[in-house]
Amino acid sequence: MVVHVLSVGSNSGYYLWAMAIEVQTDEYFMRQALMEAEKAYEEGEIPVGVVVVCAGRIIARAHNLTERLNDVTAHAEMQAITAAADFLGGKYLNQCTMYVSLEPCIMCAGAIAWAQVGRLVFGAYDHKKGYTTVSEAILHPKTELTSGLFGTESADLLKRFFAERR
Ligand SMILES: [Zn+2]
Repeated sequence: MVVHVLSVGSNSGYYLWAMAIEVQTDEYFMRQALMEAEKAYEEGEIPVGVVVVCAGRIIARAHNLTERLNDVTAHAEMQAITAAADFLGGKYLNQCTMYVSLEPCIMCAGAIAWAQVGRLVFGAYDHKKGYTTVSEAILHPKTELTSGLFGTESADLLKRFFAERR
């Protein structure tokens, strides 16, 4: 997106303004989370990706690393929470929005609640392991929720991943 604007050769305030507006959409940030999921896919990890956004900027990116780290807790969200808190120098993420390509599991939803994430946006529903299959009350009561954004894209990536492993 930035590259496109620069290729126009314009350095005018108008383009910079337009770019800033475009960058700060849910769609843009969810695409970034999907790019993280694709990185996981290429590494043979279950393709789930996350970005954490604070004040309009991405402060943490992560994807699933359970295979590489040999750690069942190495879900994208867990790492993103640690990285974001480290970046901010504080453990609460109430000023942040987390974009995750797949509905969090109960472990991650619990961690998202502990971190008091201000807003959660997830892509595909996980009808087997998603936290909503257990209880929607796992999230912190103040966490705003948006679900289903680019859910089809995220689900297609997961389907492709599991189809290749059959
Ligand atoms: Zn999880």
